[in-house]
Amino acid sequence: MRLPAQVRSGRPAPPRTPGQTAGSPDTPAPLTAATPLIPPGDELRYALHRRLALASLTCGLPVLTIMGVLEARSPSASAQLLGLYAVMALLCVWGILRVLRRSRLEGALRTIVAFNVVFVAVQAYAAGAGQSASAAQTGFSMLLMLIANSVLGYLVFEARRAGLLALGSFALAVVAGLLGFSRHGGTDMALPSVQLYLSTGTILLLLHALAWYKSRFVSQAQEQLRLEHEARTDPLTGLPNRRHLYQQIAALLEPAGEDQPEPEPRGSVIMFDIDHFKRVNDLHGHLAGDSALAHVAGLLRASAQAGETPGRWGGEEFMLVLPGLDEAGALRRAQTLRDLLHASLHPQVGLLTASFGVSACRASDDLSRLVARADVAMYRAKAGGRDRIEAASSGGP
Ligand code: GH3
Ligand code: MG
Ligand code: MG
Repeated sequence: MRLPAQVRSGRPAPPRTPGQTAGSPDTPAPLTAATPLIPPGDELRYALHRRLALASLTCGLPVLTIMGVLEARSPSASAQLLGLYAVMALLCVWGILRVLRRSRLEGALRTIVAFNVVFVAVQAYAAGAGQSASAAQTGFSMLLMLIANSVLGYLVFEARRAGLLALGSFALAVVAGLLGFSRHGGTDMALPSVQLYLSTGTILLLLHALAWYKSRFVSQAQEQLRLEHEARTDPLTGLPNRRHLYQQIAALLEPAGEDQPEPEPRGSVIMFDIDHFKRVNDLHGHLAGDSALAHVAGLLRASAQAGETPGRWGGEEFMLVLPGLDEAGALRRAQTLRDLLHASLHPQVGLLTASFGVSACRASDDLSRLVARADVAMYRAKAGGRDRIEAASSGGP
């Protein structure tokens, strides 16, 4: 049987990332209600980043095409500007293809943004110099381009870098416009009005304020998620802790909605306690004991399937919450776990066994009754010689 790396090594498992659930150490399974709450990780941010880039580039393409067509139809169309529009449209197509092919995007986005900045500077120079009869229009479209490029920057880079980019492009546009104006003495209309530059600067400032506010809000939300995750996770094993297990068991017992049929079977729980664990600590030391606990947690995580919640109940006691499984199904799962323990020796401690108690939900059960039955069954397994499985139903009421 192939086991995950942390199971083989006995090291605590790293926290699961979004999209990765119980039971599939190598293959991400769909996110389920039982998945521990995880702070948004890189994968989530990366996916969002790609979507934003795709949306921006897809919107940019028709805009550039329309602007290019308008420039081409103007009586004094500038070949330089037309060429730049064409290159920019091609860059957008290139970026879109990279997103769709899931290739690396950072370099492509940097190229597109850098080219945009050059384009803005050329437009500002042309508007200042009044080389085109529609210089005022060129200046206006340059400033819109500048704003659009800055928005793109805020979408794909973090706020500080995007702010620097917006500031730098704005300064470059001012300098290029003034340079064009002073060297070629453009007409009154040629240099876009100071008002236009001022309003653009104001829009960029507001944009930066918005991005700053958003990034603060996002980091607060991430911190909140991190704290919630920590409150539900056992730090030694990375498994859900008792608080999270309570929620999952409560969910098993929740009555169905008004028009919905009661799910049958509702589900079961497996509770198990490692046998003679005190000896492990006494013989090998507490660090080896911790490592053995992480080893067992790894096996439990590996054996849980999507929708199920493996957790550390406390000390050397663990639990597996199994929605929709009756007692017979849960007994089979306990047997799989027991076999897994036998098959996977801990490198330092060797064989670890456990005593299992299995209990299925009954009508009018509450959390404490369900858990108490599993607990009693588990202690019957201890009393019966350990390394065995007992069902709550075979031990009286
Ligand atoms: P039994 O088969 O009856 O369950 O015997 P046991 O020795 O496993 O049970 P007992 O309750 O006597 O001892 C449990 C031990 O588990 C004692 C405690 O020090 C140890 N333990 C609990 N939590 C941890 C932990 O986080 N790390 C380590 N290293 N040991 C722990
Ligand atoms: Mg024990
Ligand atoms: Mg115990």
